[in-house]
Amino acid sequence: MKTKDLPLDRLATTDRLGNRIYLYPTDVRGKWKTLRSRLSVFMIVIFLGLPWVRIRGHQAVLLDIPNRKFAVFGLTFWAHDAPILLFVVGGAVILLAFVTAIWGRIWCGWACPQTVFLEHVFRRIERWIEGDSLARRKLDQSPASLEKIVKKTLKWGCFTILALILSHSFLAYFVGTEKLASMMEQSPFQNPASFLVMAGVALAILFDLGWFREQFCTVVCPYGRFQSVLMDDQSTVVAYDVKRGEPRKGIESKNSPTGDCVNCYRCVQVCPTGIDIRRGVQLECIACTACMDACDDVMARLKKPLGLIRYGNQSVTEGKIEVSVPWFKRPRTWVYLSLLFVCIGGLVHAVLYRAPIELMLIRAVDFPYQEIPGTRGQAQVLNHFKVDLRNQTFEEQEISFSISSHLQSQGVTIVTSNHKGKLAPGEPERADLFVQFPKTLLTKGRGSMEIQLEARSKLASEPNRSNWEVHLVGPLR
Ligand code: SF4
Ligand code: SF4
Repeated sequence: MKTKDLPLDRLATTDRLGNRIYLYPTDVRGKWKTLRSRLSVFMIVIFLGLPWVRIRGHQAVLLDIPNRKFAVFGLTFWAHDAPILLFVVGGAVILLAFVTAIWGRIWCGWACPQTVFLEHVFRRIERWIEGDSLARRKLDQSPASLEKIVKKTLKWGCFTILALILSHSFLAYFVGTEKLASMMEQSPFQNPASFLVMAGVALAILFDLGWFREQFCTVVCPYGRFQSVLMDDQSTVVAYDVKRGEPRKGIESKNSPTGDCVNCYRCVQVCPTGIDIRRGVQLECIACTACMDACDDVMARLKKPLGLIRYGNQSVTEGKIEVSVPWFKRPRTWVYLSLLFVCIGGLVHAVLYRAPIELMLIRAVDFPYQEIPGTRGQAQVLNHFKVDLRNQTFEEQEISFSISSHLQSQGVTIVTSNHKGKLAPGEPERADLFVQFPKTLLTKGRGSMEIQLEARSKLASEPNRSNWEVHLVGPLR
């Protein structure tokens, strides 16, 4: 298919029968490509290096789904920490919506792992081995030959090694780097589930970045489908300046005045999703800026101002309005920003008020109290409580209950049973707590006192202490 024949009624990557048309986007150089390449190095280092970073003794990002424990930049939480999970996931989604409302699909073009690894790693290797877009197309269309077999074997061999590196890094986020290192020294049969996940991810990466490519963004990725609701005509997008470019060369008769677009189709040839940005913002545009660099190169050769295709507001570039509305004057961005602050506030509150040991103290369902003979000639009362504990940290905790010396001097004692003393990370426990106290502590059959919960771990220099109020009941007289 010639690039000039882009269809209006279907994706540029499908033919009339719905079969895929494989794209060979032309390589491009320019200011935006250089900036994106620099950022891609940073993103690749982050993706591969993050699991190896330790914050407060824990992996920087660990999503241990089988054991339902999670670590995110020093915060540790478990699956039952629903508010924290809700605020983290909700905040990330709203942040993405906020960024999209202002800067369009900047995430897709600059930071999405699909674009970063496809454009800056896989395509680069392909270009080194098979040549530029014309050479690649020619090679694919040529009959089998020694050169073709060697080049294809070399390319897919490199792709396979890369896919294995990426899938191991991916697995490290879920099983932890220490476990990953030990698993790599063992036979796959000792960790069949993890091995199958790693192999499945490697195959998926190979399929996606080696062959499926732009189809993932245009057909599979749900984010692309939400663009029409997340963006509006004030969002900054990669846009063609219709006022300046039209009528493009070759559309009108020879002697008619034309705009700056010389209809060279260079912007279409470099597009990794195969679209013509001159038709306006389209679902397939991942804002990769390749067409901006390509057109700037053409304009520079023609000695015309750069930026015929540029970051801009579509309403302005189409001539509908003169000046774009700044983001802080748009209600949509304030709605997103308000929701984002709610999520951040909720997360900060949930983290600050989260105790390392979760404790719930409820009265046992047997007798509300028992009267027993006292040791100092005073009648004593016994209250029975059920204590639900959960170690919310990633370290073993030694847990004990105590009361103040003042209460002890008044003849109050506490006894626990079914309490192991030590709780493993994430471990829950239900124990019994008995409080024995003199009747004099009650007023009209009711009273209260405080017990102290102390949790010690090997990593912390100081134990964590918290006080809990216990409501006491006994006889009215
Ligand atoms: S690269 Fe620029 S000049 Fe060439 S067709 Fe695209 S918009 Fe027109
Ligand atoms: S239209 Fe331009 S920015 Fe959009 S995907 Fe194609 S080359 Fe990238």
